Amino acid sequence: MADQSRKTAPSRPLLGLTTTIPVEVALAAGFEPVDLNNRFISDPLPAGLVAQAEELGLPATLCAWIKGIYAWCLQHPEVATIVGVTQGDCSNTHALMELLTLASRRVLAFEYPHGRGAQDLARHLTGLAEQLGTNLEAAEQARRGLLPLRRDLARLDELTWQTGQVSGGENHLWLVSASDFEGDAQGFHARLRAFLREAEVRPPRTGGPRLGLLGVPPIMSGLHETLEDMGATVVFNEVPRQFAMLPPPEGGDASLVAQYLRYTYPYDVFHRLADIQRQIELRRLDGLIHYTQTFCFRQMQDLALRQGLDLPMLTLEGDRVAPVDARTRLRLEAFLEVLS
Ligand code: SF4
Repeated sequence: MADQSRKTAPSRPLLGLTTTIPVEVALAAGFEPVDLNNRFISDPLPAGLVAQAEELGLPATLCAWIKGIYAWCLQHPEVATIVGVTQGDCSNTHALMELLTLASRRVLAFEYPHGRGAQDLARHLTGLAEQLGTNLEAAEQARRGLLPLRRDLARLDELTWQTGQVSGGENHLWLVSASDFEGDAQGFHARLRAFLREAEVRPPRTGGPRLGLLGVPPIMSGLHETLEDMGATVVFNEVPRQFAMLPPPEGGDASLVAQYLRYTYPYDVFHRLADIQRQIELRRLDGLIHYTQTFCFRQMQDLALRQGLDLPMLTLEGDRVAPVDARTRLRLEAFLEVLS
């Protein structure tokens, strides 16, 4: 969904994000958010960006997402300010921020508090707002303004797991794109509404194993489509759904602090486990695929997911930007055979 074709000069200053941050603060401060992961992976030559970072000296034994983000930033000096998440995201972010500082970017830090405390999170939100030149009241107003959009994203998610009218691949793209709304929340919402109108008149789709895809967004392309070709459907994209901050049907997200405490990705694995378990039951999942990225510390959490979840699970590892390879296809086929 990310639109890389916009060539005109932005009317608002651009704010690069190394991962999902409380985007409401960026919008309240008048920035156009730019999710660096989405821009790297939807670049016309993402593999070339990784190669360029290696030519500049980044090690082969480093996560390809980090290398791609770094090279993309070097090619886009118009993204002059970048927020790095120094607690709750990636162990490589600190060094990435140092390299981007050396590349003359203004680099700001944001933390999700390790202990998931409300007061600590409120303090960090206030600090981010001050660094960007706004305040929490304005960010709360931005949060309220985004609620109709987020409710429509929740509707899109329902059309994936309840009726199958939205495919797992479409679901993934819309939800990951909600980390920055492709830089324009209003335009994104208009495109989403048009997509929902079209999806809602599709015939329902049923049958085949119902899968959950856990872990960071896959760097390999075509995983959802490959599974669909094999007769399975992904009806739960764990981390993209977290990025999209879908309002809970029972309410309860009455503030930014509540919304970003509910977000499971930056805190310990136990909150993730509880969320995944709820979705396994709600969405009647038959099996799980845990995607892990080569050289990512989160690979260690595979053990916790296997111990904590009582459902067949296949762990896939991806390294480079490339289509699903033959070995992965064979492993997916074997896993689906086990499920059936
Ligand atoms: S996949 Fe892991 S190592 Fe790579 S950027 Fe994401 S959190 Fe960091």
